[in-house]
Amino acid sequence: MTRTNGSSTSRRAIVIGGSMSGLFAASLLRKAGWQTDVYERSDVELRGRGAGIVTHSDLIQSLERSGAQLKDLGVTVHERIALDSQGNVIERLPYEQIVTSWDRLHQIMRATIPQDTHHLGYNLKAIEQDADSVTAIFENGERVTGDLLVGADGFRSVVRNMFVPEIQPIYAGYVVWRGLADEGVIPKQAHAAVFDKFAFFLPPCNKNIGYPIAGPDNDLRPGHRRWNWVWYRAVSKPDLDDMLVDEEGVYHAISIPPPKVRADVIARLKEDARHFLPPPMRDILFCVSKPFFTPIYDLLVDKMVHGRVALIGDAAAVARPHVGMGIAKAGTDAEVLADSLASHPDLLEGLARFERERLPIAGKAVTQGRLLGEYMLDHASPETGVDDAHWREFHSIPGILKHTASSAFLRSA
Ligand SMILES: Cc1cc2nc3c(=O)[nH]c(=O)nc-3n(C[C@H](O)[C@H](O)[C@H](O)COP(=O)(O)OP(=O)(O)OC[C@H]3O[C@@H](n4cnc5c(N)ncnc54)[C@H](O)[C@@H]3O)c2cc1C
Repeated sequence: MTRTNGSSTSRRAIVIGGSMSGLFAASLLRKAGWQTDVYERSDVELRGRGAGIVTHSDLIQSLERSGAQLKDLGVTVHERIALDSQGNVIERLPYEQIVTSWDRLHQIMRATIPQDTHHLGYNLKAIEQDADSVTAIFENGERVTGDLLVGADGFRSVVRNMFVPEIQPIYAGYVVWRGLADEGVIPKQAHAAVFDKFAFFLPPCNKNIGYPIAGPDNDLRPGHRRWNWVWYRAVSKPDLDDMLVDEEGVYHAISIPPPKVRADVIARLKEDARHFLPPPMRDILFCVSKPFFTPIYDLLVDKMVHGRVALIGDAAAVARPHVGMGIAKAGTDAEVLADSLASHPDLLEGLARFERERLPIAGKAVTQGRLLGEYMLDHASPETGVDDAHWREFHSIPGILKHTASSAFLRSA
């Protein structure tokens, strides 16, 4: 079946991917007068993905512009602390920030998209374009034609692979373990030590952090919230390849779905935690029913626009999660895309402006992620070409507390 533009006056955007980038793009383009449809590969509504998300002013702005409901967005933390191996506080940094969950953000953004423009079970297979239009071809045989296609299909982007297959995620040499612990089952001492804080434990080559988020169904009542527990750990490529094999012996290239992480891999994590982590961080891990891990990758395109196709969010660039701004970046990508197209009647000129503005920002975010990530690796000199003073800053506990999940670097020269 072929669908074409239903209206002769408004331009039509085809958005591939119904996660955060796709929802921002669809919402903001619609507000700018575009007819917009979202096509998501998953057959079911996206839920339960990821875990905790730190917010920034840029993200709040994108949510507001999209018309998302911001009431009860998350939990406000007022302070960052670093612990030693005994659990004593060795560093404090006053820092107010709202911490929330991927589910919550997805839910409020999903509500901005009219149901009849959101299509599940659409797996993009091919793209055709000419001087006047672009067509998305899906696995189910449908073809949809429009003026613009937005590739918001994540770090393994099919859209990106069609144009620059040589650009692939590069393994950074470590993984991040994550999990959520229900507040009600966290032992009293651990709760008192860290629950309402953004907490860090930072022995060399490790970053173990955590913060509170809402409970299921956005429950913000004390006693019903959850703690987002995170541990970055170095893992060699051969060890990673073993960890990516599931119970049935199937190897998952790049990353393994959380429910498929093997029991023996989780048991090893818990055994290491027993010997290595300070009591509050260890005790909270033991309240997480099924921790899971994600390998950390770097990815950066050198072009965000290919004809009538624009790449946004993780499809264009993945900044390591220490920066904590993948979703904020997705939101601003979508804002600049909508604004650039609104201010240029010529679509290609608008896309060129979008790329001029956003590509350097993507590069800055990726570099900041690498700088913060160098702490994870066992070497004593900079790999990222920064001067010694900067490198020392990113290797100091006060520096890590200050720069983690902060967007201040975007405003520096
Ligand atoms: C440990 C960790 C912590 C993080 N913490 C933060 C944080 O604190 N703050 C923050 O802002 N960000 C954070 N991030 C980053 C953030 O989660 C990502 O940047 C964000 O989810 C990317 O969204 P996206 O929509 O670009 O891609 P994705 O969420 O990957 O979505 C891509 C979508 O496209 C769909 N898709 C793929 N292929 C096709 C196809 N062929 N056809 C149709 N649909 C397709 C997929 O099913 C998926 O739904 C964190 C990430 C990690 C790993």
